[in-house]
Amino acid sequence: MRDPTSFLGQEYRELVDAATDWKLRVLEGPSTPWCEIDGRRVLMLCSNNYLGLSNHPKLREAAIAAIRTHGVGSGSVRPIAGTMDLHMELERRLARFKRAEASLVYQSGFATNAGLIPQLVGEGDLVISDELNHGSIIDGVRLARAERAVYHHADPTDLDRVLVGAEAHAPAYRRILIITDGVFSMDGDIAPLDRIAALGHDHGAMVYVDDAHGEGVLGPDGRGIVAHFGLGRDRVQVEMGTFSKAFGVVGGHISGSRDLVNFAYNKSRTWLLSGSHPPPVAAACLAAIDVLEQEGEHVRRLWDHTRRFKAALRDLGYDIGVSATPITPVIVGDSHRAKALSDALLDLGLFALPIVHPMVAKDKARIRTIMNAALTDEDVGFAITAFEKAGRSLKLI
Ligand SMILES: *Cc1c(COP(=O)(O)O)cnc(C)c1O
Repeated sequence: MRDPTSFLGQEYRELVDAATDWKLRVLEGPSTPWCEIDGRRVLMLCSNNYLGLSNHPKLREAAIAAIRTHGVGSGSVRPIAGTMDLHMELERRLARFKRAEASLVYQSGFATNAGLIPQLVGEGDLVISDELNHGSIIDGVRLARAERAVYHHADPTDLDRVLVGAEAHAPAYRRILIITDGVFSMDGDIAPLDRIAALGHDHGAMVYVDDAHGEGVLGPDGRGIVAHFGLGRDRVQVEMGTFSKAFGVVGGHISGSRDLVNFAYNKSRTWLLSGSHPPPVAAACLAAIDVLEQEGEHVRRLWDHTRRFKAALRDLGYDIGVSATPITPVIVGDSHRAKALSDALLDLGLFALPIVHPMVAKDKARIRTIMNAALTDEDVGFAITAFEKAGRSLKLI
Protein backbone atom coordinates (compact mmCIF):
# COMPACT_ATOMS: atom_id res chain seq x y z
CA MET A 1 0.00 0.00 0.00
CA ARG A 2 1.12 3.53 -0.77
CA ASP A 3 2.06 5.51 2.37
CA PRO A 4 -0.62 8.23 2.61
CA THR A 5 1.78 10.51 4.50
CA SER A 6 4.66 10.41 1.99
CA PHE A 7 3.93 14.02 0.97
CA LEU A 8 5.02 15.23 4.41
CA GLY A 9 8.66 14.30 4.04
CA GLN A 10 8.67 15.10 0.34
CA GLU A 11 7.34 18.64 0.73
CA TYR A 12 9.64 19.28 3.66
CA ARG A 13 12.67 18.18 1.62
CA GLU A 14 11.61 20.51 -1.20
CA LEU A 15 11.64 23.41 1.26
CA VAL A 16 15.06 22.40 2.55
CA ASP A 17 16.44 22.12 -1.01
CA ALA A 18 15.15 25.61 -1.84
CA ALA A 19 16.61 26.96 1.45
CA THR A 20 13.13 28.29 2.38
CA ASP A 21 12.56 26.10 5.43
CA TRP A 22 12.64 27.60 8.91
CA LYS A 23 15.65 26.64 10.95
CA LEU A 24 14.69 27.20 14.55
CA ARG A 25 17.13 29.08 16.71
CA VAL A 26 16.83 28.26 20.37
CA LEU A 27 17.06 30.88 23.11
CA GLU A 28 18.55 29.45 26.28
CA GLY A 29 17.15 31.81 28.89
CA PRO A 30 15.07 34.99 28.69
CA SER A 31 14.68 37.26 25.68
CA THR A 32 17.10 39.97 26.75
CA PRO A 33 19.37 42.13 24.57
CA TRP A 34 22.38 39.92 25.33
CA CYS A 35 21.17 36.37 25.14
CA GLU A 36 22.28 32.81 24.49
CA ILE A 37 21.18 31.44 21.14
CA ASP A 38 22.26 27.94 20.17
CA GLY A 39 25.05 28.23 22.72
CA ARG A 40 26.38 31.59 21.49
CA ARG A 41 26.21 34.85 23.37
CA VAL A 42 24.80 37.44 20.96
CA LEU A 43 23.18 40.86 20.92
CA MET A 44 19.55 40.36 19.85
CA LEU A 45 18.36 42.81 17.21
CA CYS A 46 15.35 41.01 15.74
CA SER A 47 12.92 40.47 18.59
CA ASN A 48 9.54 42.25 18.77
CA ASN A 49 10.15 42.80 22.49
CA TYR A 50 10.60 46.55 21.75
CA LEU A 51 10.65 47.74 25.34
CA GLY A 52 12.37 44.80 26.98
CA LEU A 53 9.19 44.08 28.98
CA SER A 54 9.28 40.29 28.52
CA ASN A 55 11.85 40.11 31.30
CA HIS A 56 10.86 43.23 33.27
CA PRO A 57 10.84 42.56 37.05
CA LYS A 58 7.31 43.98 37.50
CA LEU A 59 5.88 41.62 34.90
CA ARG A 60 7.78 38.63 36.27
CA GLU A 61 6.61 39.37 39.82
CA ALA A 62 3.00 39.92 38.71
CA ALA A 63 2.99 36.56 36.90
CA ILE A 64 4.40 34.73 39.91
CA ALA A 65 1.97 36.42 42.30
CA ALA A 66 -0.98 35.47 40.06
CA ILE A 67 0.09 31.83 40.07
CA ARG A 68 0.03 31.95 43.87
CA THR A 69 -3.46 33.47 44.02
CA HIS A 70 -5.11 32.00 40.88
CA GLY A 71 -3.10 28.96 39.74
CA VAL A 72 -1.67 28.27 36.31
CA GLY A 73 -4.78 27.68 34.19
CA SER A 74 -8.27 29.10 33.81
CA GLY A 75 -9.94 25.74 33.28
CA SER A 76 -12.34 26.84 30.56
CA VAL A 77 -13.22 29.09 27.69
CA ARG A 78 -14.14 32.66 28.66
CA PRO A 79 -17.95 32.36 28.14
CA ILE A 80 -18.33 29.26 30.34
CA ALA A 81 -16.10 29.19 33.42
CA GLY A 82 -12.82 30.73 32.20
CA THR A 83 -13.39 34.40 32.99
CA MET A 84 -11.48 35.44 36.11
CA ASP A 85 -11.36 38.81 37.85
CA LEU A 86 -7.89 39.23 36.31
CA HIS A 87 -9.32 39.04 32.77
CA MET A 88 -11.99 41.63 33.55
CA GLU A 89 -9.47 43.93 35.24
CA LEU A 90 -7.14 43.64 32.24
CA GLU A 91 -9.92 44.67 29.85
CA ARG A 92 -10.91 47.63 32.03
CA ARG A 93 -7.31 48.80 32.27
CA LEU A 94 -6.67 48.32 28.57
CA ALA A 95 -9.75 50.37 27.65
CA ARG A 96 -8.56 53.15 29.98
CA PHE A 97 -5.05 52.99 28.46
CA LYS A 98 -6.52 53.17 24.93
CA ARG A 99 -9.04 55.90 25.91
CA ALA A 100 -11.77 53.66 24.51
CA GLU A 101 -15.21 52.80 25.82
CA ALA A 102 -14.33 49.10 26.00
CA SER A 103 -11.68 46.51 25.19
CA LEU A 104 -11.70 42.76 24.70
CA VAL A 105 -8.74 40.38 25.06
CA TYR A 106 -8.30 37.36 22.79
CA GLN A 107 -5.83 34.48 23.06
CA SER A 108 -3.59 36.00 20.39
CA GLY A 109 -3.49 38.66 17.72
CA PHE A 110 -3.89 35.99 15.08
CA ALA A 111 -7.00 34.65 16.84
CA THR A 112 -8.39 38.20 16.96
CA ASN A 113 -8.11 38.79 13.22
CA ALA A 114 -9.26 35.28 12.35
CA GLY A 115 -12.21 35.48 14.77
CA LEU A 116 -13.47 39.02 14.27
CA ILE A 117 -13.02 39.99 10.60
CA PRO A 118 -15.37 37.25 9.29
CA GLN A 119 -18.07 38.47 11.71
CA LEU A 120 -17.82 42.12 10.73
CA VAL A 121 -18.39 41.41 7.05
CA GLY A 122 -20.24 38.60 5.29
CA GLU A 123 -22.32 38.00 2.22
CA GLY A 124 -23.26 41.20 0.42
CA ASP A 125 -20.40 43.12 2.05
CA LEU A 126 -17.00 44.30 0.84
CA VAL A 127 -13.66 44.18 2.68
CA ILE A 128 -10.86 46.41 1.37
CA SER A 129 -7.32 45.53 2.37
CA ASP A 130 -3.86 47.12 1.97
CA GLU A 131 -1.87 44.86 -0.36
CA LEU A 132 0.86 44.38 2.27
CA ASN A 133 -1.36 43.50 5.22
CA HIS A 134 -0.21 40.85 7.72
CA GLY A 135 -0.95 37.18 7.07
CA SER A 136 -3.40 36.96 9.97
CA ILE A 137 -5.52 39.68 8.32
CA ILE A 138 -5.31 37.83 5.01
CA ASP A 139 -6.55 34.66 6.69
CA GLY A 140 -9.30 36.53 8.55
CA VAL A 141 -10.44 38.03 5.25
CA ARG A 142 -10.38 34.59 3.61
CA LEU A 143 -12.74 33.30 6.30
CA ALA A 144 -15.23 36.08 5.53
CA ARG A 145 -17.88 35.46 2.90
CA ALA A 146 -17.61 39.09 1.79
CA GLU A 147 -16.23 40.27 -1.54
CA ARG A 148 -12.61 41.41 -1.39
CA ALA A 149 -10.66 44.27 -2.87
CA VAL A 150 -7.06 45.35 -2.41
CA TYR A 151 -5.56 48.85 -2.64
CA HIS A 152 -1.96 49.80 -3.38
CA HIS A 153 0.22 49.81 -0.30
CA ALA A 154 -0.43 52.82 1.98
CA ASP A 155 -2.01 54.70 -0.94
CA PRO A 156 -5.16 56.71 0.00
CA THR A 157 -5.67 57.77 -3.64
CA ASP A 158 -5.95 54.14 -4.67
CA LEU A 159 -8.18 53.39 -1.69
CA ASP A 160 -10.44 56.25 -2.83
CA ARG A 161 -10.59 54.67 -6.30
CA VAL A 162 -11.75 51.37 -4.76
CA LEU A 163 -14.32 53.12 -2.56
CA VAL A 164 -15.73 55.13 -5.47
CA GLY A 165 -16.00 51.91 -7.49
CA ALA A 166 -17.73 50.21 -4.57
CA GLU A 167 -20.36 52.97 -4.42
CA ALA A 168 -21.37 52.19 -7.99
CA HIS A 169 -21.78 48.49 -7.21
CA ALA A 170 -25.26 47.03 -7.73
CA PRO A 171 -26.80 45.83 -5.59
CA ALA A 172 -25.30 48.24 -3.07
CA TYR A 173 -22.94 46.66 -0.54
CA ARG A 174 -24.54 46.22 2.85
CA ARG A 175 -21.33 47.08 4.73
CA ILE A 176 -17.80 48.06 3.78
CA LEU A 177 -14.74 47.41 5.96
CA ILE A 178 -11.32 48.98 5.34
CA ILE A 179 -8.52 47.13 7.06
CA THR A 180 -4.85 48.00 7.39
CA ASP A 181 -1.76 47.28 9.42
CA GLY A 182 -0.79 50.33 11.50
CA VAL A 183 2.95 49.78 11.12
CA PHE A 184 4.11 47.46 8.33
CA SER A 185 6.52 44.96 9.75
CA MET A 186 8.81 44.45 6.73
CA ASP A 187 9.49 48.13 5.97
CA GLY A 188 8.63 49.85 9.25
CA ASP A 189 6.45 52.47 7.53
CA ILE A 190 3.31 53.87 9.17
CA ALA A 191 -0.10 53.59 7.46
CA PRO A 192 -1.59 57.02 6.60
CA LEU A 193 -4.40 56.25 9.02
CA ASP A 194 -5.61 59.86 9.23
CA ARG A 195 -6.37 59.90 5.51
CA ILE A 196 -7.71 56.34 5.50
CA ALA A 197 -10.05 57.22 8.36
CA ALA A 198 -11.25 60.35 6.55
CA LEU A 199 -12.01 58.30 3.43
CA GLY A 200 -13.83 55.71 5.52
CA HIS A 201 -15.91 58.48 7.06
CA ASP A 202 -16.72 60.05 3.66
CA HIS A 203 -17.83 56.70 2.22
CA GLY A 204 -19.61 55.29 5.25
CA ALA A 205 -17.09 52.47 5.65
CA MET A 206 -15.79 50.96 8.91
CA VAL A 207 -12.04 51.25 9.60
CA TYR A 208 -10.08 48.47 11.32
CA VAL A 209 -6.40 48.97 12.18
CA ASP A 210 -4.04 46.19 13.28
CA ASP A 211 -1.54 48.02 15.46
CA ALA A 212 0.63 45.05 16.47
CA HIS A 213 3.85 46.97 15.73
CA GLY A 214 2.61 50.43 16.76
CA GLU A 215 1.63 49.76 20.37
CA GLY A 216 4.29 50.55 22.92
CA VAL A 217 6.01 52.48 20.15
CA LEU A 218 3.76 55.23 18.72
CA GLY A 219 1.71 57.89 20.47
CA PRO A 220 1.87 59.26 24.03
CA ASP A 221 2.91 56.49 26.51
CA GLY A 222 3.08 54.14 23.51
CA ARG A 223 -0.73 54.08 23.31
CA GLY A 224 -0.53 53.27 19.59
CA ILE A 225 -1.38 54.60 16.16
CA VAL A 226 -4.89 55.91 16.93
CA ALA A 227 -3.44 58.13 19.69
CA HIS A 228 -0.46 59.00 17.43
CA PHE A 229 -2.84 60.54 14.88
CA GLY A 230 -5.28 61.79 17.55
CA LEU A 231 -8.20 60.07 15.82
CA GLY A 232 -11.66 59.68 17.33
CA ARG A 233 -13.38 56.35 17.85
CA ASP A 234 -16.02 57.43 15.35
CA ARG A 235 -13.29 57.37 12.67
CA VAL A 236 -11.42 54.18 13.59
CA GLN A 237 -14.02 51.75 14.87
CA VAL A 238 -11.74 48.79 15.54
CA GLU A 239 -8.28 49.27 17.07
CA MET A 240 -6.71 45.83 17.23
CA GLY A 241 -3.39 44.91 18.80
CA THR A 242 -1.34 42.27 20.56
CA PHE A 243 0.32 41.74 23.92
CA SER A 244 2.98 39.59 22.23
CA LYS A 245 5.21 42.39 20.93
CA ALA A 246 6.06 45.58 22.85
CA PHE A 247 3.91 44.42 25.78
CA GLY A 248 6.24 41.43 26.13
CA VAL A 249 3.65 38.73 26.93
CA VAL A 250 0.98 37.16 24.68
CA GLY A 251 -2.62 37.86 23.69
CA GLY A 252 -4.62 39.81 21.12
CA HIS A 253 -7.06 42.61 21.82
CA ILE A 254 -9.50 45.10 20.39
CA SER A 255 -10.61 48.49 21.62
CA GLY A 256 -13.57 50.56 20.51
CA SER A 257 -17.20 51.07 21.45
CA ARG A 258 -19.07 49.00 24.03
CA ASP A 259 -21.29 47.78 21.17
CA LEU A 260 -18.21 46.53 19.31
CA VAL A 261 -17.00 44.57 22.33
CA ASN A 262 -20.45 43.09 23.11
CA PHE A 263 -20.79 42.08 19.47
CA ALA A 264 -17.25 40.67 19.26
CA TYR A 265 -17.39 38.38 22.26
CA ASN A 266 -20.74 36.96 21.33
CA LYS A 267 -19.68 36.23 17.75
CA SER A 268 -15.90 35.58 17.51
CA ARG A 269 -15.50 31.84 17.27
CA THR A 270 -11.80 31.91 18.20
CA TRP A 271 -12.78 33.71 21.42
CA LEU A 272 -15.82 31.58 22.24
CA LEU A 273 -14.29 28.17 21.54
CA SER A 274 -10.72 28.37 22.85
CA GLY A 275 -9.43 28.38 26.44
CA SER A 276 -8.77 31.71 28.13
CA HIS A 277 -5.38 33.03 29.20
CA PRO A 278 -3.68 31.49 32.23
CA PRO A 279 -3.74 33.86 35.25
CA PRO A 280 0.01 34.69 35.02
CA VAL A 281 -0.50 35.85 31.43
CA ALA A 282 -3.37 38.18 32.32
CA ALA A 283 -1.46 39.50 35.34
CA ALA A 284 1.72 40.12 33.35
CA CYS A 285 -0.26 41.99 30.67
CA LEU A 286 -1.80 44.16 33.41
CA ALA A 287 1.69 44.88 34.75
CA ALA A 288 2.84 45.81 31.24
CA ILE A 289 0.13 48.49 31.08
CA ASP A 290 1.28 49.77 34.50
CA VAL A 291 4.85 50.00 33.24
CA LEU A 292 3.81 51.87 30.09
CA GLU A 293 1.79 54.36 32.17
CA GLN A 294 4.40 54.82 34.90
CA GLU A 295 7.79 54.40 33.24
CA GLY A 296 7.89 56.66 30.21
CA GLU A 297 11.64 56.19 29.89
CA HIS A 298 11.30 52.91 27.98
CA VAL A 299 9.49 54.46 25.01
CA ARG A 300 11.81 57.48 25.08
CA ARG A 301 14.92 55.28 25.06
CA LEU A 302 13.50 53.17 22.25
CA TRP A 303 13.22 56.29 20.08
CA ASP A 304 16.61 57.72 21.14
CA HIS A 305 18.29 54.46 20.16
CA THR A 306 16.26 54.27 16.95
CA ARG A 307 17.28 57.77 15.80
CA ARG A 308 20.95 57.14 16.55
CA PHE A 309 20.99 53.72 14.87
CA LYS A 310 19.22 54.90 11.71
CA ALA A 311 21.48 57.96 11.35
CA ALA A 312 24.62 55.84 11.80
CA LEU A 313 23.56 53.23 9.23
CA ARG A 314 22.65 55.95 6.74
CA ASP A 315 26.04 57.62 7.30
CA LEU A 316 27.73 54.29 6.64
CA GLY A 317 26.03 54.27 3.25
CA TYR A 318 23.39 51.61 3.82
CA ASP A 319 19.95 51.73 2.18
CA ILE A 320 17.57 51.69 5.13
CA GLY A 321 14.37 52.21 3.17
CA VAL A 322 11.41 54.30 4.25
CA SER A 323 10.92 53.21 7.85
CA ALA A 324 9.50 55.73 10.32
CA THR A 325 9.63 53.37 13.32
CA PRO A 326 12.13 51.26 15.34
CA ILE A 327 11.97 48.62 12.59
CA THR A 328 14.99 49.37 10.41
CA PRO A 329 15.44 47.27 7.27
CA VAL A 330 18.98 47.17 5.91
CA ILE A 331 18.35 46.52 2.21
CA VAL A 332 21.28 44.90 0.41
CA GLY A 333 19.94 43.42 -2.85
CA ASP A 334 19.60 39.70 -3.51
CA SER A 335 19.05 36.94 -0.96
CA HIS A 336 22.68 35.73 -1.09
CA ARG A 337 23.99 39.13 -0.03
CA ALA A 338 21.42 39.34 2.79
CA LYS A 339 22.33 35.88 4.05
CA ALA A 340 26.06 36.66 3.85
CA LEU A 341 25.55 39.85 5.85
CA SER A 342 23.46 38.05 8.47
CA ASP A 343 26.16 35.36 8.83
CA ALA A 344 28.92 37.97 9.10
CA LEU A 345 26.95 39.86 11.76
CA LEU A 346 26.40 36.66 13.71
CA ASP A 347 30.15 35.95 13.63
CA LEU A 348 30.60 39.40 15.19
CA GLY A 349 27.99 38.59 17.86
CA LEU A 350 24.95 40.38 16.43
CA PHE A 351 21.74 38.45 15.83
CA ALA A 352 19.50 39.80 13.04
CA LEU A 353 17.77 37.65 10.46
CA PRO A 354 17.64 38.07 6.69
CA ILE A 355 14.24 38.60 5.06
CA VAL A 356 14.18 37.40 1.46
CA HIS A 357 11.80 36.65 -1.41
CA PRO A 358 8.83 35.87 -1.29
CA MET A 359 8.43 37.98 1.88
CA VAL A 360 9.95 40.96 0.04
CA ALA A 361 10.79 41.66 -3.64
CA LYS A 362 13.70 39.63 -5.08
CA ASP A 363 16.07 42.61 -5.27
CA LYS A 364 15.02 44.00 -1.87
CA ALA A 365 16.40 41.27 0.38
CA ARG A 366 17.36 42.73 3.70
CA ILE A 367 18.38 42.32 7.26
CA ARG A 368 15.44 43.42 9.35
CA THR A 369 16.52 44.98 12.61
CA ILE A 370 14.22 45.93 15.46
CA MET A 371 15.53 48.35 18.06
CA ASN A 372 15.00 47.62 21.74
CA ALA A 373 14.82 50.03 24.68
CA ALA A 374 16.67 47.57 26.93
CA LEU A 375 19.92 48.07 24.96
CA THR A 376 22.53 50.28 26.59
CA ASP A 377 24.21 53.08 24.62
CA GLU A 378 27.27 50.82 24.37
CA ASP A 379 25.11 48.05 22.91
CA VAL A 380 23.83 50.37 20.20
CA GLY A 381 27.45 51.33 19.46
CA PHE A 382 28.33 47.64 19.29
CA ALA A 383 25.53 47.04 16.75
CA ILE A 384 26.64 49.97 14.59
CA THR A 385 30.26 48.79 14.64
CA ALA A 386 29.18 45.27 13.67
CA PHE A 387 27.26 46.63 10.66
CA GLU A 388 30.30 48.72 9.70
CA LYS A 389 32.76 45.81 9.92
CA ALA A 390 30.50 43.27 8.22
CA GLY A 391 29.46 45.70 5.47
CA ARG A 392 33.07 46.66 4.69
CA SER A 393 34.30 43.07 4.62
CA LEU A 394 31.49 42.11 2.21
CA LYS A 395 31.97 45.35 0.19
CA LEU A 396 28.33 46.33 0.73
CA ILE A 397 29.28 49.85 1.83
C1 LIG B 1 2.47 39.70 15.09
C2 LIG B 1 1.29 40.21 14.38
C3 LIG B 1 0.03 39.64 14.56
C4 LIG B 1 -0.17 38.41 15.41
O1 LIG B 1 -0.16 38.72 16.75
P1 LIG B 1 0.01 37.52 17.83
O2 LIG B 1 -0.55 38.09 19.06
O3 LIG B 1 1.47 37.24 17.93
O4 LIG B 1 -0.76 36.35 17.31
C5 LIG B 1 -1.05 40.22 13.93
N1 LIG B 1 -0.89 41.28 13.13
C6 LIG B 1 0.31 41.85 12.91
C7 LIG B 1 0.41 43.05 12.03
C8 LIG B 1 1.44 41.33 13.52
O5 LIG B 1 2.63 41.89 13.29
